[in-house]
Amino acid sequence: MTIAVKNINKRFGDFIALNNVSLDFPAGELTALLGPSGCGKTTLLRCIAGLEHPDSGQVLLDGEDASARHVRERQVGFVFQHYALFKHMTVFENVAFGLRVKPRAERPSEEQIRRKVKDLLELVQLDWLADRYPPQLSGGQRQRIALARALAVEPRVLLLDEPFGALDAKVRKELRRWLRRLHDDLHVTSIFVTHDQEEALEVADQVVLMNKGRVEQLGAPDEVYNHPASPFVYGFLGNVNVFHGRVHDGVLASEGVHFDVPDQHRAVQDGKGTAYVRPHDLEIDRYEQGAEGIVVKLRRAHAIGPLAQLDLERTDNAQLIEATISNERFRHLELKEGETLVVRPKRLHVFVDEGAAI
Ligand code: ATP
Repeated sequence: MTIAVKNINKRFGDFIALNNVSLDFPAGELTALLGPSGCGKTTLLRCIAGLEHPDSGQVLLDGEDASARHVRERQVGFVFQHYALFKHMTVFENVAFGLRVKPRAERPSEEQIRRKVKDLLELVQLDWLADRYPPQLSGGQRQRIALARALAVEPRVLLLDEPFGALDAKVRKELRRWLRRLHDDLHVTSIFVTHDQEEALEVADQVVLMNKGRVEQLGAPDEVYNHPASPFVYGFLGNVNVFHGRVHDGVLASEGVHFDVPDQHRAVQDGKGTAYVRPHDLEIDRYEQGAEGIVVKLRRAHAIGPLAQLDLERTDNAQLIEATISNERFRHLELKEGETLVVRPKRLHVFVDEGAAI
């Protein structure tokens, strides 16, 4: 099923939760709604589900206006962050629930329910837990059962609101890979809400970046990461060093340092501009007399695993700069805290200051 929202507005009192949001969710794709707390992700999901009604605008399911369709008729499956499974029911009965409460005419036979629940528990790889009760499960297992329960009624749309939000980092990582594999098998049009950029970029076919009730950008993960449409998107998708200055003739001058504006941004008009540089896009060397670049002192190095994270401080204006280099390079340079270094951006983005993409 395709989902589209057109010019949706939603207010709570004076507060604008959704501001003219229009989006397409292609059939069979997994879309991540990503953005900071309070930006409207859950409200949008609830409007699509029919749990919330927009003040204006439309939700289209397979091209048809869904406003008159009740939640039950929209054939959506939900999984929430704190999905309350029925504590007094076994895992089996929890998954069977949606089938048992169907109107009599549509209700499957006991044998069909048994087979279906068994298949679903195998799908989420937890068939061995069928007779347990929810309090006897781990958080990750509970979320997988919640997903099996949502899938039991064969939803045409799956809506997941921070499904793994309450779990620890390691389990989250496992479950998001698992969700991706599951989605590849089932191809149900799915939307999942997250505020974790790594999760969105890793799992989704397309990512929607939201900010203050508006859509900032929609695109494939590599597109939004490599071609951010605004400083907000750039900043939200990873750590970043920011250099304010003025652009003139393809060069951004910022407090004594000059950044060449990259070719793809050549259209930038002269005026105020800001360079954005990711920590791993900085090149580091020991300082030598006359070396070109930004002169810094190494304040702190955190070199565990394959990467070394460096906290640097500019010698001229005390700006803090974050750099990430390979641990191999870090060891090769034999860097010590307090040492003077020079950094040069290998890659950067430049935006004009009012935030327009260039
Ligand atoms: P989070 O990541 O924190 O869940 P979110 O992006 O999902 O945030 P929403 O839950 O959509 O954000 O909420 C958007 C804004 O609307 C918030 O500021 C919230 O306080 C407000 N809001 C949501 N529901 C209601 C409501 N029923 N009444 C009043 N305000 C609400």
